[in-house]
Amino acid sequence: MSNNVEPVFENDELVLVWNNDKDCAKLQYFGGYSKSETHRFICWCDGRTSSTTGGYIEHWKNCAKICQKCEKQVCECNTKPTFKDDELVLVWNEKKSTAELRYFRCILSNGISCWASGKTSFTANALFQVYDNCVKVCQECGKEECECK
Ligand SMILES: [Zn+2]
Ligand SMILES: [Zn+2]
Repeated sequence: MSNNVEPVFENDELVLVWNNDKDCAKLQYFGGYSKSETHRFICWCDGRTSSTTGGYIEHWKNCAKICQKCEKQVCECNTKPTFKDDELVLVWNEKKSTAELRYFRCILSNGISCWASGKTSFTANALFQVYDNCVKVCQECGKEECECK
């Protein structure tokens, strides 16, 4: 594999762009390649996409691929699990032996919020509980190590 192969960017792909100082890099949507020798990468202005920008573009010196989900150059999607609304999860506070199955609500600054009493967003009447720990489980059997098969 050669390091000289440049990544190919798609129109409206979320990318990280910067000029001289990578610390000032910004997330923008890719808009094409320019003939400029120094500022070869075109992005739509102000974090807009081709459909919302009204045609305004900016030119950048550097452009890098990022994960389209977590928006990081080094994807963190797998290191920090993400939970969906009403996803069945296993939650506990101090001891995992007391873990219970709950339906995920959201992440709060003080912990993981799940709908109270094993209910979902549809049935919980807005009541929720907060836990310290949360892991993914099989949505069918509710086990961390799926036992469905
Ligand atoms: Zn990611
Ligand atoms: Zn299972």
